[in-house]
Amino acid sequence: MDVINNIFPEITSPKKVVITMHQKPDGDAMGSTLGLYHFLLQFGHEVTVISPTNWASFLDWMPASNTVLDYEKETKKSDELIHQADWIFCLDFNTMSRTKKMEEVLLKSNATKILIDHHQQPQTEVFHFGISDTTKSSTAEMVYDFINASGYNDKINEPISQCLYAGVMTDTGSFRFPSTSASVHIMVADLISKGLKHSVIHENLFDNFSENRLRFIGNTLLNRMQIFYEYNTALISITQQDLIKYDIKTGDTEGLVNYPLSIEGIRLAAIIIDRGEERKCSFRSKGSFDANTFARKYFNGGGHYNAAGGHSKESLETAVSDFIKAMHENKNELSTYQF
Ligand code: 5GP
Ligand code: MN
Repeated sequence: MDVINNIFPEITSPKKVVITMHQKPDGDAMGSTLGLYHFLLQFGHEVTVISPTNWASFLDWMPASNTVLDYEKETKKSDELIHQADWIFCLDFNTMSRTKKMEEVLLKSNATKILIDHHQQPQTEVFHFGISDTTKSSTAEMVYDFINASGYNDKINEPISQCLYAGVMTDTGSFRFPSTSASVHIMVADLISKGLKHSVIHENLFDNFSENRLRFIGNTLLNRMQIFYEYNTALISITQQDLIKYDIKTGDTEGLVNYPLSIEGIRLAAIIIDRGEERKCSFRSKGSFDANTFARKYFNGGGHYNAAGGHSKESLETAVSDFIKAMHENKNELSTYQF
């Protein structure tokens, strides 16, 4: 993978561009791809954003989200665009398998593939150009850096500001995680000085849910959370019946894994959700516990040091007991915790 700055001389000559992201995109995946979309449009490129799957409706306020293709729903059109593309930007994922059913067609495409990502252990051999920096708060911050490094900070308009702010806010837990560096605050200061109304973005992302979702959270915290104080660990498990009963949609469970971390002493929080086709797992840790390695080793996943995900093909009961076994195996790391 060559350094991303080598594509800058080409940025002003119009091309066919596809931008994609990981499946079930979050605020950073959607914010960074749409931020880049609004930037590239200004140079006359033909740009399409393709998501491997559907996404949470709380992202639908993002400017141009209505132009994003859902690969699972518009496979033929998406395949054609990928086939014809000169450039394919791959944002907010480290390995092509994170694009689910798009993986094969992306790997086959002859387009120049460009990675912008902050996850650990990227599959650099499949990208021609790119930047992978695990110290970065978010891919949205990296798109901001990309725009600045290209020399076109003056092209940052309102839609770009809104999308990038949403991305950085999502991935920093509203500016509280250790990844919230000085450069994050400098970026936000620049966006606000350009006119960004940041409180509206917060409201769009966090105050737009259904009553059902809040009642579902109440039930989950009351009845579906186990605490293992000896291991400084909490586990939430959610059945398919719960999802049906409360009419839970894509994205409604996002952030739920963080709640147990507000309990004094809890260093690892896990959630396992029975999504039918698979059991989806999320892990969040504090300090020295390496959630990325844990997710890789036990749940076919990965991510960041303190925030990772994975999945299991086993039943919910088995996935829960697998987790408990893994927790026992990691007793030392979980009980001797450091910041
Ligand atoms: P979440 O738990 O919110 O789904 O994901 C937490 C972090 O881990 C995100 O940065 C996400 O991209 C990453 N992640 C989630 N699931 C997987 C997975 O199955 N494989 C890998 N490599 N990363 C994942
Ligand atoms: Mn991200």
